[in-house]
Amino acid sequence: MTPCTATRSDGRPCCAPALTGEAKCFWHSATTRQAMLQAASRGGSRSAIVLPEADELTPSRARRILAGLVIATAEGAVDADTARAVAYLISIDLQVLEKLEIDKRLAALEAAAALNKQEGTKQ
Ligand SMILES: [Zn+2]
Repeated sequence: MTPCTATRSDGRPCCAPALTGEAKCFWHSATTRQAMLQAASRGGSRSAIVLPEADELTPSRARRILAGLVIATAEGAVDADTARAVAYLISIDLQVLEKLEIDKRLAALEAAAALNKQEGTKQ
């Protein structure tokens, strides 16, 4: 994925992935910015914009991001508020992942129980 060519408001380069066929990311693209401004002018909010989807966050990827975040925060490259927000979002993602795993296990147990019940009525 190509990184966005825009510069952030703090003067550092934006490292977000560029949109397909564009040089800039979702947040810096003139196309998405125009859509956001139009939604705002219609009395809507930015939440009316469909946010970009990204690859799922695996636990190992989340751990790598957190490890990098710890170092970046300690070195002052990332401000504490940003670090807190990212850590919070990662924790939400892991909670969702845990729930999906529990749902999958429960469905497997229910299927096994239903099969056992069927086998029991045959005899
Ligand atoms: Zn960008």
